[in-house]
Amino acid sequence: MDKILVSGGAGFIGSHLCDFLLKKGCYVYCLDNFSTGKKDNIYHLINHDNFNLIEHDIVDSIDVEVDKIFNLSCPASPEQYQKNPIKTMKTSILGVYNLIDLSLKYNAHLIHASTSEVYGDPLEHPQRESYWGNVNPIGIRSCYDEGKRCSETIIMDYIRKENLSASIVRIFNTYGPHMLKNDGRVVSNFIVSALLNDNIIINGDGMQTRSFCYISDLLFAFEKILDKEYVGPINIGNPNETTILELCQLIIELTNSNSRFIFSKLPKDDPLKRKPDISLAQKELNWQPEINLREGLMKTICFFKEKRHESDSTEN
Ligand code: NAD
Ligand code: UDP
Repeated sequence: MDKILVSGGAGFIGSHLCDFLLKKGCYVYCLDNFSTGKKDNIYHLINHDNFNLIEHDIVDSIDVEVDKIFNLSCPASPEQYQKNPIKTMKTSILGVYNLIDLSLKYNAHLIHASTSEVYGDPLEHPQRESYWGNVNPIGIRSCYDEGKRCSETIIMDYIRKENLSASIVRIFNTYGPHMLKNDGRVVSNFIVSALLNDNIIINGDGMQTRSFCYISDLLFAFEKILDKEYVGPINIGNPNETTILELCQLIIELTNSNSRFIFSKLPKDDPLKRKPDISLAQKELNWQPEINLREGLMKTICFFKEKRHESDSTEN
């Protein structure tokens, strides 16, 4: 039975991955410092025979014997990662060093969650893996963008110099159940406001684009990357590009909401467009997303409807 460490396992993506790996018959160590992760997300797994929760901060070293490692530990929402940018950077840099040490010690393949943010506010569209990006190194998003870029550099150098076995996955905007009600990301913000018939805040003129991938599609990509130990970097996302205004209108329609939308200032360095070129994933992994936006949003809306009456604290 494969023993797998999921660092950041109580977060949105990590908690789905823990479920997915347990269903595949793996033994799962879920490591988290519960900064943006929630015990709620993994509560149903606590008594599972093959599940082991480790409360730990990945900025500090860790020793647990495993066969494979997923590094998902890092806040992903701009609102969250900007709260403590110094910690965000430490998590990306020191965290990846610590997981590399573990990987080398036990010869465990490391899968690292990188991001479309390495392309910054892209001048090439759609974004291919060969594009080096357009990133502000000293702005409010830099702690995340540059942290992720640097962690890619560290991993590639260890692959070249120390024979590290690793994969770099550049994840584009992914959404689904287990997102926090108030973590600030657009899909959760819009759905929560729409269900309450509150005003929906659109930053800028709403013409900026994103390409939203449903969580189950990402999990299937992870499975293929794990099986093939494909080094990458490789884009994983849904190439169906939509404006933020279109997303808002669709969520209002699907929730049958009376919400109005109002426009607010676009935050600094907010990328104007984003769409993955996934030809590498199609060719190397025979992977492409299956869930369209309407279907994925309906599943996510159902989740938030069930959670409607719970506290919206980010605390555990
Ligand atoms: P999330 O904030 O829900 O999950 C991150 C998890 O990491 C949380 O459980 C948090 O408590 C934990 N964590 C943060 N810092 C830690 C530390 N120092 N030590 C231990 N645990 C720590 O975010 P998510 O959407 O699940 O994203 C997971 C990973 O995927 C992140 O690395 C993120 O950068 C990457 N990613 C996500 C998206 C997306 O759209 N969701 C897109 C690109 C990349
Ligand atoms: N956004 C918005 N209203 C919100 C939250 C976000 O208009 O309540 C915008 C945000 O400015 C950005 C887009 O939606 O242009 C996606 O934001 P998110 O934080 O989800 O992801 P990221 O910017 O990291 O892609």
